Amino acid sequence: MPADPLTDEQREIRDLVRTLSRERIAPRAAEIDKSAEFPWDVVELFRENDLFGIMYDEEYGGIGESSLMTFVVIEELSKVCATSGLIIAVQELGSLGIKLAGTDEQKRRWLPKLASGEWLAAYALTEPGSGSDSAAMLSTARREGDEWILNGGKRFITNAGVASAYVVFAKTDQQEGHKGISAFVVEADSPGFKVGRIEPKMGIKGSTTGEIFFDDCRIPADNLLGEEGEGFAIAMRILDRSRPGIGAQGLGLAQGATDYALDYAKNRETMGKPIAEHQLIAGTLADMETKCEAGRGLLYRVGQLIDEGADGQELTKLSAMAKLYCTDIAMEVTTDAVQILGGYGYISEHPVERMMRDAKITQIYEGTNQIQRLVIAREMLKENRAFLLAGVS
Ligand SMILES: Cc1cc2nc3c(=O)[nH]c(=O)nc-3n(C[C@H](O)[C@H](O)[C@H](O)COP(=O)(O)OP(=O)(O)OC[C@H]3O[C@@H](n4cnc5c(N)ncnc54)[C@H](O)[C@@H]3O)c2cc1C
Repeated sequence: MPADPLTDEQREIRDLVRTLSRERIAPRAAEIDKSAEFPWDVVELFRENDLFGIMYDEEYGGIGESSLMTFVVIEELSKVCATSGLIIAVQELGSLGIKLAGTDEQKRRWLPKLASGEWLAAYALTEPGSGSDSAAMLSTARREGDEWILNGGKRFITNAGVASAYVVFAKTDQQEGHKGISAFVVEADSPGFKVGRIEPKMGIKGSTTGEIFFDDCRIPADNLLGEEGEGFAIAMRILDRSRPGIGAQGLGLAQGATDYALDYAKNRETMGKPIAEHQLIAGTLADMETKCEAGRGLLYRVGQLIDEGADGQELTKLSAMAKLYCTDIAMEVTTDAVQILGGYGYISEHPVERMMRDAKITQIYEGTNQIQRLVIAREMLKENRAFLLAGVS
């Protein structure tokens, strides 16, 4: 096995998650996909094994926050069930606003419930008319005495209807663009908060994706995260740390599909030998494995950087690269896995059919991969790097 930067304790957690994935989650994965029902039994399994705790400091009931470990857990779960991996990824996505911008009091109020998994979290940025262009959002929040009153709606929100806390972005100053956006925590039982349609979709079917609405939704004044007008900056700092989690989901899908295709190729025979011994299949398997390993190197490096406290330009660029690369290879590798299984890859008896459908969304959410490319290029242009051949004519 390749070298990894994990400590002995982190390897133990990875091995526990590997065992749970193989013994408890893999047998459920096809059923979760078929029923398209949110897997509360998987949430219960995570609670029992303290898996939510890996994302939180001990003072808030966690087992010590580590982004690297969080990515490893998402990767392991996604090898067998991307919906299950997403539960961890979105718990982190929905908690990061509180961790990064919350006051001590806000952290004490919400993080322990999220660390135990008693509450699930959600992150609500996207609206019908604003996805990539999040500054074009129309939802508003106005201050009235000791409360904020929210109006508007969000679309495509993961965990809609199952989350207890939503980190919501809304305009507090409609004359401003991104500087007019603020961030709030909206609890699911707030008056005027409503969950709308849950979308039927191509993959990650056990995860809920839905609309949420605010109809004069009243929340306490101290549910504002950070200062008024800081919401967009908070949203971007969150994404710098959460996007690699989607990379981890993609990497898990890619490695899971590679492992399955390898096993199949060793056992399926044509023209008198296992298909793994035909050079074109062997070459494809080698490319799949190489892509996974390259993605893992990038992803774990970003995990280490976040754990070392990195912020700003370097993190933004590497985080976008990890998301972009790991999810692009997820699509390529799962498609190759289906090809290696031939006709059997196209039918739902084998998990690679589900993996290929699940992989597609990883290139779209938390910023499409076109947007990741723009982010990376923008950071490159800022770098003002010396060109080695400058001056050579
Ligand atoms: C299953 C699912 C779960 C989701 N979960 C969440 C969630 O939990 N919270 C949340 O807030 N959102 C969530 N989303 C929303 C998701 O992040 C957005 O769908 C995504 O960011 C793209 O926005 P859009 O769909 O409006 O596409 P658009 O922004 O309309 O983009 C359409 C196309 O144009 C391209 N494009 C747009 N602008 C540019 C540009 N400047 N240059 C080049 N290409 C461009 C895009 O890459 C895309 O291919 C989820 C979506 C889905 C489908």
